[in-house]
Amino acid sequence: MGATVAIIGRPNVGKSTLFNRLVGKRLALVDDTPGVTRDRRPGEARLGDLKFTIIDTAGLEEAEAGTLEGRMRRQTEEAIREADAILFLIDARAGVTPLDAHFADVARRTTTPVILIANKAEGRAGSDGLYEAYSLGLGEPIAVSAEHGEGLADLYDALKPYVDAITEAEDAKREEARTAVDVDEDGELVDEEVPVGTRERPLRVAIVGRPNAGKSTLINRMLGEDRMLTGPEAGITRDSISVDWQWQDRHIKLFDTAGIRRKARVQEKLEKLSVADALRAIKFAEVVVVTLDASNAFEKQDLQIIDLVAREGRALVIAVNKWDLVEDREAAWKQIRDANDRYFNQIRGVRIVTLSGLQGQGLDRLMENVFEAYEAWNARVSTARLNRWLEKVTVNHPPPAVAGRRIRLRYLTQPKTRPPHFVAFCSRPEQLPESYTRYLVNSLRETFGIPGTPIRFSYRKGE
Ligand code: GDP
Ligand code: GDP
Repeated sequence: MGATVAIIGRPNVGKSTLFNRLVGKRLALVDDTPGVTRDRRPGEARLGDLKFTIIDTAGLEEAEAGTLEGRMRRQTEEAIREADAILFLIDARAGVTPLDAHFADVARRTTTPVILIANKAEGRAGSDGLYEAYSLGLGEPIAVSAEHGEGLADLYDALKPYVDAITEAEDAKREEARTAVDVDEDGELVDEEVPVGTRERPLRVAIVGRPNAGKSTLINRMLGEDRMLTGPEAGITRDSISVDWQWQDRHIKLFDTAGIRRKARVQEKLEKLSVADALRAIKFAEVVVVTLDASNAFEKQDLQIIDLVAREGRALVIAVNKWDLVEDREAAWKQIRDANDRYFNQIRGVRIVTLSGLQGQGLDRLMENVFEAYEAWNARVSTARLNRWLEKVTVNHPPPAVAGRRIRLRYLTQPKTRPPHFVAFCSRPEQLPESYTRYLVNSLRETFGIPGTPIRFSYRKGE
């Protein structure tokens, strides 16, 4: 058993080469010539101490009839269904092509984790392509060279949580089967970390948002007079600034992207950079506050940033700023609720706070929501509770029957928090409609009180 990882991407980006690199044998045929038919077979991959099954989808694109898009869409969707994690490859030297963008759209819509890989980046080659890759909205690209074996340590870091999650889930399942006793709800592993917000472990919060949303104003208002810059970067450059702050008796490290934006303006790459910068801050943070301007909230770039936060699996609070300028608050709030229903399937129930950074209104509410979001993000539900719940929901709303046979969901476990990741063991996961997964996730949210947090939900095949 173990995790299954699929490699997807348009032809010629280096899927087979990466497959070979991970399997350590020349199983897949690498060829420059389009039209060469290749097998799509799983290999036993190793990366450091990680072991997993890898599927190379390279063969499919030529083997099937139809347009390239059609074939690739099928290939991508199939791989996504089978896999616990996806490696989405682009060619860093070629940059992002329309075909890459097209399939990134498909990949973005799944709950299976996607790791974006910019291949052919040996030496310093392909840095433009690497940069462009952010625009795919699949998170931070990892630069690798499949051919030269570079960047594999970063790939390891990115894959490890998912591979481990599956191993842990399987171990837990075996353990439970072996001992056949109900796990005590309080017998769960207790997080040994120092409580967040104490002196030892400040909560890491990033303030991100479009230029002019009011980030700097908000941060200055938070910090008041005693602005205290810390970290090695302080004073040297404002590139990645962290500021220590205290709200009530809680300690917080704020990551501010405003400074980078100013530099970006000089470079006239504003649109692109602000997303890349946001991503950088998001990486550092546990909770991300996405700041929107109330007068034009939820524009494309806002949604892109929110999507990035969800993709990266961070806890999230949306701050609708400049609320002091809004005349008809009732109408504005209604618009916000509508946008919420329309856009935020992945983070249903996300916390939205209205405030005025300029006038200092709503800051306490913002921070209360930040800590609540953090708690939901850390939520851990015991296996016993999950399985009692699973039994109930599958009785109330059974999975559909396909070809006359009912799909069975046997077991549910949560191997990971931050964000919560659930794994369900299912007889035929590939046939389970996505709408059913959405139903499960939404019901999980409601039952266990985890609104607004990105939730990972994946399946393992098993009776
Ligand atoms: P696939 O169609 O996505 O499976 O791509 P292949 O693995 O067949 O690779 C396509 C071409 O890209 C081949 O000529 C490979 O040698 C080349 N290639 C793959 N990885 C790299 C890399 O890291 N650097 C460079 N420069 N070329 C690569
Ligand atoms: P940033 O680019 O996100 O850091 O945005 P700034 O903090 O530089 O703010 C952009 C503009 O919006 C400035 O003119 C601010 O004075 C204004 N602004 C920021 N927050 C508020 C607010 O809450 N209310 C009002 N009326 N204006 C604000």
